[in-house]
Amino acid sequence: MLANSLIELDRAHLIHPVASYRGHEKLGVRVLKSASGATVTDATGRQLLDGFAGLWCVNAGYGHESIVQAAARQMRELAYATGYFGLGSEPAIRLAAELAQRAPGDLNHVYFSLGGSDAVDSTVRFVRYYWHAKGEPRRDQFISIEQGYHGSSTVGAGLTALPAFHAGFGVPYDWQHKIPSPYPYRNPVGEDAAAIIASSLAALEAKIESVGADRIASFYAEPIQGSGGVIVPPRGWIKALRDLCSRHGILFIADEVITGFGRTGPLFACSEDDIVPDFMTTAKGLTSGYAPMGAVFMSDKVYDVIADGAGNAAVGHGQTYSGHPVSAAVGLAVLNLYEDGLLDNGVRAGRRLMAGLESLRDHPLVGDVRGRGMLAAIELVIDKEKKIPLPAAADPSRRIFDRAWENGLVVRAFAQGVIGYAPPLCCTESEIDAMIERTRKTLDQTL
Ligand code: PLP
Repeated sequence: MLANSLIELDRAHLIHPVASYRGHEKLGVRVLKSASGATVTDATGRQLLDGFAGLWCVNAGYGHESIVQAAARQMRELAYATGYFGLGSEPAIRLAAELAQRAPGDLNHVYFSLGGSDAVDSTVRFVRYYWHAKGEPRRDQFISIEQGYHGSSTVGAGLTALPAFHAGFGVPYDWQHKIPSPYPYRNPVGEDAAAIIASSLAALEAKIESVGADRIASFYAEPIQGSGGVIVPPRGWIKALRDLCSRHGILFIADEVITGFGRTGPLFACSEDDIVPDFMTTAKGLTSGYAPMGAVFMSDKVYDVIADGAGNAAVGHGQTYSGHPVSAAVGLAVLNLYEDGLLDNGVRAGRRLMAGLESLRDHPLVGDVRGRGMLAAIELVIDKEKKIPLPAAADPSRRIFDRAWENGLVVRAFAQGVIGYAPPLCCTESEIDAMIERTRKTLDQTL
């Protein structure tokens, strides 16, 4: 089918996620046709370096034959098996066991979801169940962080703190509370690590005090805020918040949907940050985007309370596709790749990426460079001294995205003039260098 007719069909029938429907109808879709390694090819034949691994998910890169073979083998052998009625499949069991073995501390129990949003949603339900089982049902209030993103399910969208996910949906979110983002570049207390940590701790203390410690069920944090603009808190920040939650008996949920599976270097950012959360949510890199799947990690302590609380009754939480054997087989194949050099390559490529982005600091538009491993961003300003953002009226994100595309590079251009990078971990150093070169060209055209 010709690309033009595809554009018409798309315009008429396909509803895109998180899009201006009228804006999209006007602009038309860009159709991607094929991909290999870190390069994607569109329907016109244009080849681009994917600096964003799809949607920060294709950590292994595209076209890995071992993953394709694992999926095909599993489809032939057993395309589907439910986890209901005490049934199961080998890939789901093995993947849960392999993940538990590698997870921090006592996160030994894994519930498979279909992606990140329902992983987060599942934690809300598990957390509520936990407190009911503990005899503290009044703990029904949740705290998360401004500029955080935890998905767009009905419940999880409440934990998310990006305005577009609330405005117009009319869902009551009076059970959730927010504290300010640590955002070093724009934090009112400045960029000093100790000051930022102290200010987040004070904000959380104050929130706990105002809501009441005995009312708070759990606290959600991303080790690095992704969709809020790749906001990298100082080292020690998440540990300080985790410790504070522990002191108040508040469950701590680390949302590693983006940071998990090598994105920041190790398999999980929590290990590097030296924390063991009560729950950890993951998705994306779990299957590297080859099949939909998320995983909720639950600690021994939480699992035992829920299991004992339910006794012989069923814990009424589940989906038809939880632990889907094809996705699980893909997950196992991807895990092999991580440990067969992919994580190490990601660490090397991440160093190159950060050094390359640092080299852009001399550009008149680059106000901030931040990142960890293969998760990074630059923030553009029109005045470096005063940190004045690019004018929003000119829709810098659309222009930057389009120019980068013309230059053969896919990036995430955030509305506030932030350019995000999350390349596949398989990138070579010359691919990273080309991404930096194409970014500089894009910036020059944006001046
Ligand atoms: N949590 C975080 C931290 C995310 O970044 C995302 C998606 O980007 C989600 C949850 C939701 O995941 P999904 O889009 O797979 O539903």
